[in-house]
Amino acid sequence: MKRVIVAIDGPAGAGKSTIARRVAAKTGFVYIDTGAMYRAVALWALRADVDLTDMHKLEELAKAANMIFLDGGSGMELNGEDVSLAIRTPEVAAAASKVAAVTAVRRALVQKQREIADTSSVVMEGRDIGTVVFPDANVKIYLDADHSVRAERRAQDLIGSDTSQVAKDIAERDHRDASRRDSPMTQAPDAVYLDSSGLNLDEVEEAILKLIRERTSNGKEIH
Ligand code: C5P
Repeated sequence: MKRVIVAIDGPAGAGKSTIARRVAAKTGFVYIDTGAMYRAVALWALRADVDLTDMHKLEELAKAANMIFLDGGSGMELNGEDVSLAIRTPEVAAAASKVAAVTAVRRALVQKQREIADTSSVVMEGRDIGTVVFPDANVKIYLDADHSVRAERRAQDLIGSDTSQVAKDIAERDHRDASRRDSPMTQAPDAVYLDSSGLNLDEVEEAILKLIRERTSNGKEIH
């Protein structure tokens, strides 16, 4: 049985996680939030006081990290501890984007991502899924939205946050993610560009499910 890979990439706050989770629930594929993996390594580095430019130490952490997705991919366990909430702070997000610029870290995490998809069909979201992790993915989406819409959405996720600060944080992070040398955030040439600014969740979900139906045997795994 051949597995199906749905790759969803795009900037912070574009709605990738929400949509990927919904598409996974509809198709029965496994939902993988690769950003959570970079966040988990960043959290460990921050707690262990590792310098975020120390490539060797960061590589060690990325290789040694025992990461298990919880609750259908919405949560994350790191080395036996539930860090689902701890990885969602703005500090960890900023650190994740620094850690993610380190090639050795990416190599370690990309290997883990490919291993997960070895055994099951997946909806995987991140920044480099359609370009680097799975260049042969069956369906590739680049999910985008206006900067102000993305900041507003992110601010709603972060209780008590200030939208203008969130807007600044994600602009900084997107710039770092798009300009790094290794696996920069970019749209794969064969990805479908979806701007979710004026669309509701049902519309985005339907657009992606339609693509999956078109490109696979009616959304079933290909035999
Ligand atoms: O998607 P999320 O905001 O959780 O990702 C956190 C950070 O992890 C991103 O800003 C990016 O630097 C990094 N990341 C990445 N490649 C991925 C997923 C996330 O570089 N595939």
